[in-house]
Amino acid sequence: MGDLEDVYNELIMEHSMNSYNKKNLENADFCELGHNPNCGDEITLEVKLNGDIIEDMAFNGHGCAISQASTSIMIDTLKGKTVEEAKEIVKTFIEMIKRETTNEDDLKKLEDAIAFKNISHMPARVKCALLAWHTIEGILNKERK
Ligand code: ZN
Repeated sequence: MGDLEDVYNELIMEHSMNSYNKKNLENADFCELGHNPNCGDEITLEVKLNGDIIEDMAFNGHGCAISQASTSIMIDTLKGKTVEEAKEIVKTFIEMIKRETTNEDDLKKLEDAIAFKNISHMPARVKCALLAWHTIEGILNKERK
């Protein structure tokens, strides 16, 4: 398991330092601010829908490596998915972090976001890892109405 954890750490470092998802979208349908006062993390998520599909997503903001990487990896994971699929993935990610699920088949849906699995053992970092996911949850629930 040691090697696998190294791969995950590298992935998180890569996304936190220089994310290609950190930019502005033209014609975003949704723009939502997420804030984690415990750590000072702040992100702005922008989402562009094409019918029911998440066509594009991007973010801006600042904060710790975990919050920034979690946002960027979430964008990679959810882009191209339908709103319903995205909701399911977001729910699974939150359950993984809260240690409410360890179902391997469910966790596979998370793709690279599974890299944050061990965050569930670091209570101080949980809110950092969840920030973007709670923010997109707010957008996706709004969309339904
Ligand atoms: Zn943080």
